[in-house]
Amino acid sequence: MKEYDVVIIGGGIHGAGVLQAAAAAGHKALLIERQALASGTSSRSSKLIHGGLRYLESGQFALVRESLRERAIHLRIAAELVELKPFFIPVYRDTRRRPWQLKIGLWIYALLGGFDAATRFGSVPKAQWPALDGLKSSDLDAVIRYHDAQTNDALLTRAVVKSALGLGAEIAMPAKFMRAELSEGGVNVKYTASSSSVEVKTRVLVNAAGPWASQVARAVDPAIPVPDVDLVQGTHIVIPHPVTAGIYYVESPSDGRAVFVMPWAGATLIGTTETPYHGDPDQVHPLPEEEEYLLAVVRHYFPALSALTRSDITERFAGLRVLPAATQAAFDRSRETIFTTDRDARPRVLSIYGGKLTGWRAASAHVMQRISPSLPAASRKAQTDLLILRRPI
Ligand SMILES: Cc1cc2nc3c(=O)[nH]c(=O)nc-3n(C[C@H](O)[C@H](O)[C@H](O)COP(=O)(O)OP(=O)(O)OC[C@H]3O[C@@H](n4cnc5c(N)ncnc54)[C@H](O)[C@@H]3O)c2cc1C
Repeated sequence: MKEYDVVIIGGGIHGAGVLQAAAAAGHKALLIERQALASGTSSRSSKLIHGGLRYLESGQFALVRESLRERAIHLRIAAELVELKPFFIPVYRDTRRRPWQLKIGLWIYALLGGFDAATRFGSVPKAQWPALDGLKSSDLDAVIRYHDAQTNDALLTRAVVKSALGLGAEIAMPAKFMRAELSEGGVNVKYTASSSSVEVKTRVLVNAAGPWASQVARAVDPAIPVPDVDLVQGTHIVIPHPVTAGIYYVESPSDGRAVFVMPWAGATLIGTTETPYHGDPDQVHPLPEEEEYLLAVVRHYFPALSALTRSDITERFAGLRVLPAATQAAFDRSRETIFTTDRDARPRVLSIYGGKLTGWRAASAHVMQRISPSLPAASRKAQTDLLILRRPI
């Protein structure tokens, strides 16, 4: 039976990150993915590498600071994949947040980002408003501009895996995790690949199965803690009419939620929604009412597109957020990553719930720190904040 230091379930951004971090630390690591890299949530995000301006309102300062630090690292190590973009926040007479409130928020954002060049912000002069892709100008009081970054989430995931493979990591794909048995010395992991059953032994199993993480955790024997989480669906649509000036950060006219209207591959990507989800994560799909909600945003802010209908949508996708279970609206819940282990000292299983695309590297470093007491001594091969990520071919 093959033996590893770390076996990871799930080839999304978190699984990719842990694979890279484990290999960089000099450990023997294997990633098991049942379909394709980034086939889950990590290809269905808003594709932003961002500090999360709106998390300031819910007081998640530590998360914003960490995310801005990770944004700066991405701009350095993944320049082929992550691009700084102007963001525009139009403020109308009836917009909930006034320009002075936004500027205070952006000043705190800049402070948490160490006032680097990418945290500069200001107002777009009125003379430049006509260059904003036909943005509605009636009752427009101000347009605030700041910067955040955009990526291709699936390519970023593949780039991280490619980096890990370059450090000697292994991958089994397509390969479906079936079950794990804990013993004092580690974990026996069973998976199926090409309809045959394979068993490997590892010191630590990392469960990075995203919305499927609870399913994976329930297949561990003896049972391990499974936290109470909710799945919340987020849908995006693509329309062929391109916006080009930058990313528009607008309030939905129906409920005031923040929605992004983004340039994307020569077209426009609009998202997202927050719909509680109770079914099988494999069955998630965009709902007609979510598509209507997103179209209403575009029609409202871009009068030239007021005739858009669902038949204009060229692409649609839905992903699932994993959030701590609570009764409050998904929008206001913590976006901090939840890490659980089978035991405090020398964990054999670590599960990752939730988190952000932006935070994959920091989350992976945290995982390595938590599981290091269970791993043999190894000589480090690389530092993940210095490894350059190349666009995969
Ligand atoms: C609508 C939406 C928008 C978002 N926008 C942003 C954003 O703009 N910026 C940002 O920073 N974050 C964003 N996020 C958060 C971010 O996308 C997620 O935190 C991240 O993609 C989660 O990655 P993951 O690796 O944990 O899970 P996933 O990407 O879902 O990966 C889990 C993997 O596990 C595999 N798997 C499951 N079961 C098994 C099994 N039995 N055997 C083998 N493999 C298995 C699946 O096939 C899948 O590939 C968004 C999330 C959503 C839902």
